[in-house]
Amino acid sequence: MSRFWSETTQNLTPYVPGEQPKIANLIKLNTNEHPHGPSAQVIEAIQAATSDALRLYPDPEATALKQTLASYYQVKPEQVFVGNGSDEVLGHIFQGLLKHEAPLLFPDISYSFYPVYCGLYGINYRPVPLDDELCLCPQDYMPGPDQPVGGIIFPNPNAPTGRLLALTAIEQILNANPDVVVVVDEAYIDFGGESAISLVSRYPNLLVVQTLSKSRALAGLRVGFAIGDAHLIEGLERVKNSFNSYPLDRLAIAGAVAAFKDTAWFEKTRQDVISWRETLTADLQALGFEVLPSAANFIFVRHPECDAGELAAGLREQGVIVRHFKQARIQQYLRITIGWPEQHKALLSALKPLL
Ligand code: PMP
Repeated sequence: MSRFWSETTQNLTPYVPGEQPKIANLIKLNTNEHPHGPSAQVIEAIQAATSDALRLYPDPEATALKQTLASYYQVKPEQVFVGNGSDEVLGHIFQGLLKHEAPLLFPDISYSFYPVYCGLYGINYRPVPLDDELCLCPQDYMPGPDQPVGGIIFPNPNAPTGRLLALTAIEQILNANPDVVVVVDEAYIDFGGESAISLVSRYPNLLVVQTLSKSRALAGLRVGFAIGDAHLIEGLERVKNSFNSYPLDRLAIAGAVAAFKDTAWFEKTRQDVISWRETLTADLQALGFEVLPSAANFIFVRHPECDAGELAAGLREQGVIVRHFKQARIQQYLRITIGWPEQHKALLSALKPLL
């Protein structure tokens, strides 16, 4: 605590990211990065940058990337917002599109950055419990006349559970809340779900957020985007232009544009992750683990006879890092990122003596 901090800063409870270890030979299955490196075309595009790419300011509108995303997702460029990772895009959404008094609704087990942004921007919120199977129930997001709602946000698939909500359920939530923004955070959608981007033309209150950190293997480049009605995007541009004129640097724009051109890399690598997920699920089930159905590049597992915290610590001692959350209700679960089959082999042999 410092006497120079503002009241807001003193009251913040900042987000704690997963460990990014300094030791290179650890098996890192804790923060949902892609096992493959990005498309070679991304690396080529970044390497092809001339010295002007660093000397000159970038395009403040990142027009080339907006056009690329618009044609890829069949929307108009004015329906696309881009930012420095989806965390930053989400920050702008919290600041610019959500009401402050009526509570924002999100699942009680969900991305832990949401309550952090609420604290930062003074937004009231109400966590909504998941059901016994850790699924989101659309009925819980249908407020009565005396229950004002300031907005709704949820990841789909949910994090850290990996569970997927069908588009029909998302439509129920959209129809029940026509006057507030419903944000679908699709960080993991490419590993097994259907994107709600197909709904944006019918729902002016829908905003879909995605990232290049997961299915495009570009967590280090920091690029995320939102797609929705042009009025929602205009609101986000107002926030952005009051905060940072150049959200994406030139290398990030070049790399991100190239990432969406290489559809062969995208299809192959996401199929790898999906098939390795299914194999790891079966292998863990054979060891007695319960594995929640996952549509993401991670699985959420528990062992009925073993303490998850002790398992995570035992794995860490053997050089395998997975994610353990201390939050009530999920403290007996581990979240394991899908890695290479060889890494899964090492994970399984490290687990066996701990069971
Ligand atoms: N949403 C969810 C649900 C996430 O798990 C993450 C990754 N931690 C993000 C958004 C943010 O990803 P990024 O900032 O790398 O785009």
